[in-house]
Amino acid sequence: MTRSFADPETLFELVRSQTPVDVDGFKIGEPTGQIRCNECGRSAAAPAYIPHLPDCPQRDVTSNYYDETH
Ligand SMILES: [Zn+2]
Repeated sequence: MTRSFADPETLFELVRSQTPVDVDGFKIGEPTGQIRCNECGRSAAAPAYIPHLPDCPQRDVTSNYYDETH
């Protein structure tokens, strides 16, 4: 069972800082450069690097994305 990565915005979201700039270096609401999986909530610098939970339905999505872009 495979899934397309044609609509990544529905599968992943940009992580935005929820703390002031003096806490993590980013202002509140500013993108931190991390991408978060909408299903399991794990995040990484790119979708292909997200350490999905074992039962996350988007694990195969990221592998497909990786195949298509590398
Ligand atoms: Zn996931």
